[in-house]
Amino acid sequence: MRVFGVTGWKNNGKTGLMERLIAEITSRGFTVSTTKHAHHRFDIDKEGKDSYRHRVAGAKQVLLSSSQRWALLDELRGEEEPYLAEHLSRLDPVDLVLVEGFKAARHPKIEVHRESAAREPLIALNDPTIRAVATDTAAPEGLGPDVLVFDLDDTAAIADFVLEQVGLVTEPKPDFPPLRDDCFALPDGVEWTPVDTALATLRDRLKCVVRSETVPVSAACGRIAAQDILAPRDNPPTANSAVDGYGFANPTAQEAYRLTLVDGRAAAGAPYQSVVPAGHAVRILTGAALPEGVDSVVMQEDVQLVGNELRFSGPLKPCANARKAGEDVRKGSVIVVEGEEITPQAIALLSATGCDEVEVRARLRVGVLSTGDELVPAGEAATPTQTYDANRPMLLELAKAWGFEPVDLGHVPDDRAALKTALDQGAESADVIFTSGGASAGDEDHVSALLSAQGTLHHWRIALKPGRPLALAMWGGVPVFGLPGNPVAAFVCALIFARPALGVLAGAPWRLPLAFKVPADFTKKKKAGRREYLRGRLNSDGTVSAFESEGSGRISGLHWANGLIEVEEDRTQISEGELVRFLPFAGFGI
Ligand code: AMP
Ligand code: MG
Repeated sequence: MRVFGVTGWKNNGKTGLMERLIAEITSRGFTVSTTKHAHHRFDIDKEGKDSYRHRVAGAKQVLLSSSQRWALLDELRGEEEPYLAEHLSRLDPVDLVLVEGFKAARHPKIEVHRESAAREPLIALNDPTIRAVATDTAAPEGLGPDVLVFDLDDTAAIADFVLEQVGLVTEPKPDFPPLRDDCFALPDGVEWTPVDTALATLRDRLKCVVRSETVPVSAACGRIAAQDILAPRDNPPTANSAVDGYGFANPTAQEAYRLTLVDGRAAAGAPYQSVVPAGHAVRILTGAALPEGVDSVVMQEDVQLVGNELRFSGPLKPCANARKAGEDVRKGSVIVVEGEEITPQAIALLSATGCDEVEVRARLRVGVLSTGDELVPAGEAATPTQTYDANRPMLLELAKAWGFEPVDLGHVPDDRAALKTALDQGAESADVIFTSGGASAGDEDHVSALLSAQGTLHHWRIALKPGRPLALAMWGGVPVFGLPGNPVAAFVCALIFARPALGVLAGAPWRLPLAFKVPADFTKKKKAGRREYLRGRLNSDGTVSAFESEGSGRISGLHWANGLIEVEEDRTQISEGELVRFLPFAGFGI
């Protein structure tokens, strides 16, 4: 368990710092528990309460439980106070336990020091477990060279320090191991980020970055609702007929009906204007409002008309063939929820209930930049050593297919200054940036070098094939997805990581791709420990084939496939007929 302490003499602000650190560290997505050393007379139980009465009566332990929390009280009754380690072993697993007090225990600590409250010399002067001092004055004198000093109010810096000390965050490392021939091999001793961890981090750290705007329903398809949309009226707005037939009231179990037909009729949009008396029926057409005096309809196929007498056989249920007002949607009910992507079906519902405008999110602007000295835009003359830029057009089209606004940031050579200028421009004109190429660890990999030197690189090595070199960073406040250069890897990373992440930036909830299990019509061996995505094609017999090559430059395989086959980390083999997870491209909105 990772443990870090806050210590200090009385009234120096230990609890205040604890409180600020708990809030800061939990807001960064870590789970935190705490332990506090208190005065021997402390009591969380109140005199007279039932639990107190149990204890005073002699119980050794009292367990109190409610739907909100529970507590276990242990009365030592003369036993020794347990050591901190024993207490820690009782806690459920969390990322970090913050300990207040317990000066004598040997865990690493920060000491709080306030000039106004200082009566005793700093504990840090004589205690090597104190790694830092948080103070409201200038750096105290006499501290060892390894003891850092923080401003007591700089919670973010203290939290960074604590997390770094316990190993929860590591500084981005500038020295990447060189690329190997087998670029997908898992080197020994290197920590790989599992795909799910990378995804959870994106899910937890990202939030909507676009404002909302009002658009007519006719322009809302494909947009993301910025708030819950309520039905302005019932659907259907009044009770009406579900069939062409004859309307009357109060059907009973009787076998033979004889009703007198009134003059006139009720049609959709042309209601019958007067009351239908008891014992009478009125001609009514599908969609017509039920006139007063009508609650049921008999189908025209089931009746006989003799003069103006209508004859048919029962029994008919009350309200037969009638649609109730609001039976589909009630006025004021939520018909589209915040974050929902508005589909043609939602447009039907919005229109049917009388919505004319909706509040939606502005389209997320997705900047796409390709990098590499070898690249030439399609259509221009290229030498055999040059590569046509395939990623930029592909990524721009993906952004468009996902309902975002593609922003073409062009192409830059492998030049750090040019890349920096392009990223600066991208941060101005887009809400999120895709780069492709240069995200690996080679000499020309300026994207990863620049992002780690000047941005905040979140992830580097993801246990994934294809697409291991993926750099996720912030640039000028804008998230950057440093996608691999190989088009297949760029595509897979865009689908698996960027699509759900961009959805969150655009105001949608985190989305999981549509997936189902189908039998494989191929065999495959794989290394454990990394997840693989194969180009797959669902066959008409319900099996799935894998593309003949796993080469990540084989763009033809992307075109051949109609989905991805997801092979889990722990799987080392697929035999023919075994079930594999298939993620159809249609589930990715393409
Ligand atoms: P890199 O990640 O820059 O090392 O590139 C890996 C491979 O992908 C190289 O063969 C590049 O030429 C190729 N590549 C990089 N960017 C693109 C692109 N935009 N279109 C097509 N291929 C590319
Ligand atoms: Mg390159």
